[in-house]
Amino acid sequence: YNVPKAVNEPVKTYAPNSPEKKSLLDTYKKMYNEKADIPFYIGGKEIRTGNTVSIHPPHDHQHTVGHYHKAEKSHVEQAIANALEAREAWSKTPWEHRAAIFLKAAELLAGPYRDRMNAATMICQSKNVMQAEIDAACEMIDFFKFNVEFMTEIYANQPISSPGIWNRMEYRPLEGFTYAITPFNFTSIAANLCAAPVMMGNVCVWKPSDHQIYSAQVIVELFKEAGLPDGVINVVYGDPVMISDTILSHREFSGIHFTGSTHVFKMLWKQIGENIGNYKTYPRIVGETGGKDFIWSHPSANAKQVATAITRGAFEYQGQKCSAASRAYIPESLWADVKKYVVADLKSIKVGSPDDTSNFVNAVIHEASFDKISRFIDQAKQDKDAEIVAGGNHDKSKGYFIEPTVILAKDAKYTTMCTELFGPVITIYVYDDKDWKDSLKLVDETSEYALTGAIFSADRYVIDYATNALENAAGNFYINDKPTGAVVGQQPFGGARASGTNDKAGSIWNLLRWVSNRTIKETF
Ligand code: GLU
Repeated sequence: YNVPKAVNEPVKTYAPNSPEKKSLLDTYKKMYNEKADIPFYIGGKEIRTGNTVSIHPPHDHQHTVGHYHKAEKSHVEQAIANALEAREAWSKTPWEHRAAIFLKAAELLAGPYRDRMNAATMICQSKNVMQAEIDAACEMIDFFKFNVEFMTEIYANQPISSPGIWNRMEYRPLEGFTYAITPFNFTSIAANLCAAPVMMGNVCVWKPSDHQIYSAQVIVELFKEAGLPDGVINVVYGDPVMISDTILSHREFSGIHFTGSTHVFKMLWKQIGENIGNYKTYPRIVGETGGKDFIWSHPSANAKQVATAITRGAFEYQGQKCSAASRAYIPESLWADVKKYVVADLKSIKVGSPDDTSNFVNAVIHEASFDKISRFIDQAKQDKDAEIVAGGNHDKSKGYFIEPTVILAKDAKYTTMCTELFGPVITIYVYDDKDWKDSLKLVDETSEYALTGAIFSADRYVIDYATNALENAAGNFYINDKPTGAVVGQQPFGGARASGTNDKAGSIWNLLRWVSNRTIKETF
């Protein structure tokens, strides 16, 4: 199968005074004041119900950038009907045509759509320039291009034949429609949860997070311009319970592609179980959920390297990556140095809104999240088992700003060592050097989640020992590097336990979940 060889999209640097930075910030300003009127989409048609919700940037919650329209139950039913109608033609569309649409989308995003996708992500998801660029531009482009290549690798995989017999494998789309429920924290994941099943010939109903709707609108425009036929992806905004109830009780529901909280995913799984007698086929359930990701250091590690992993891994995008480091285990002999470097790093980090590109940390996504994280920080200020080593301030008067915060826990099972906060907070436990093996056991035992984890050591024996001891504690395991920033095609991403079904976003293994194969034996 001849498709262009996928390579990772180069990350633009947006250097001071560069034309690319000026162009992006001009787009930001324009979109910030656009008063966008965002419809939802069924069968390619824009639908405005007049039942609207205002959109506010998390870093400036009194400002309104626009509003979106909410769907009623009847719209969700229509979205399903349109998806099924579009399936007739789409499921029979040759793979080259499907591939070409996504390759075209990648080129449009690398060029004319880049600024708008990045700016929408900065405004409504409060990402800094670099975090927007690596997500909304590079990772989304990579998802499209690499998945096209993976798709052809799948199709090339065929059974053996024998004289007079031709055996074939047809990688057919699932029978029915897929449902994408997507998160606020990665614009690229939102696009990919629809695009991956669709690339394989499926049709989709998409419910984005209420906090990602500005960039969802840009994704819809991108797919349309790339040539995706009407009805292949239908987007609905509104009450998540009503939308999921309507979709999951439909006979032709064929699979869910989810990224979000563990709690919601378990509820949806139960609901699918309750409806199981009603479906035409067993639905595919693919989900990436929470994380309580660790950094573990051995005494042989380099303290500066560990400190950098903590500040980058815990505080990029305000710790709102499922992969973010939120607990660390540091040997006593390294702690003074690690602490010194982390505190120094944090002094140079600025908190504020993303249009000032010198701000590394922006706002957390909404008030409920701000209140929850602040409560844990304030509790730590009072608990005798905990000490605030850096940060600790929070202020929601203009935006939902929380200072990067480091908590030192005297008890390895202290609440913030075990609870997912999804914010700019990391808790550190200092262990006695000679207990390093026990400390690994502790990491594993307290890993209710198993998404990402990082170990640091200069000793090969220790690296092997820790890699074995933590074999089930992380789906993405990093040796001497921070646990965030998986790159499509390089580190397929996903985890098990309470973190998900581990189907590795942006990989051949994920795409295989969206096909229902037909084996054909033809004799001559
Ligand atoms: N793939 C991202 C990373 O490696 C995290 C994705 C997520 O937060 O869901 O940092």
